[in-house]
Amino acid sequence: MSEKKYILLTHGGAGSKNEYQDGARKAADTGIQAINSGASVMDVVCQAVAVLENDSRFNAGVGSHPRADGSVEMDAAVMDSLGNFGAVAVIEGFKNPIHVANAVTRTQYKVLAGQGAATFAQKAGLETMTKDQIPGTGTDFSTTDSSTDTVGCVAFDGTNFAAGLSTGGIKGAIPGRVGDVPLIGCGLYAGTAGAVAATGDGETIAMHMTAIRAYQMLERGDAPQKVLDEVISWFHPEDDAFGLILINRNGYAGGCNRSMAWAAVSEEK
Ligand code: ASP
Repeated sequence: MSEKKYILLTHGGAGSKNEYQDGARKAADTGIQAINSGASVMDVVCQAVAVLENDSRFNAGVGSHPRADGSVEMDAAVMDSLGNFGAVAVIEGFKNPIHVANAVTRTQYKVLAGQGAATFAQKAGLETMTKDQIPGTGTDFSTTDSSTDTVGCVAFDGTNFAAGLSTGGIKGAIPGRVGDVPLIGCGLYAGTAGAVAATGDGETIAMHMTAIRAYQMLERGDAPQKVLDEVISWFHPEDDAFGLILINRNGYAGGCNRSMAWAAVSEEK
């Protein structure tokens, strides 16, 4: 029987505390369990990202940073190497925007935003936040403790690759602001050569077309660590937080110009 290799990485965002690594590890373990139970690589990534969205220490789902007016608008995206992509932007009130993005991959559309995305999610039967889960309103939630960034996952199930991201965006941003996460090739990219998921200052990530350019380096055969080192050098640490996780068939790399909770699992089976 031939050996099958699994690789899965998760991150809790540029700036997330290293001591939150247990959250990234829990998400990675959930993803590996999903691979072992035969889930598609797209579902694997979404299940891992949902664990991070449900952990209020991270800036996604129930931990999302509020906007300047106190509203909570979230972006999420998922992509696989089979050519599927789905994203939501500025969606409000849903617990797991990553599941909404996944549902978008099963439509003829690529990105849904705002109220239309919320109506779509409701029709798809996706879970809304309870009153206590809406960031800033629950008795257990402190926005001042949620100083971390976007969450993400990249996975290889031995055959296909996928990448997923979810975020509450930049704390205090103008309502309606959309970052790099739902922009294909900016925050994330997945293809037959690998998968890439970024975190940090979304405007700068987008202007660099970061994920597609990192992916193209993997495609031409550069090792993940080499790609990481090159891409991090595009960002000035004093101005822009930036972190990246990336994989190809043979390995992985992860790093950040700030602290970043992240986890990696690589298994032969
Ligand atoms: N990239 C995300 C955004 O700009 C946030 C982050 O990763 O820090 O919306």
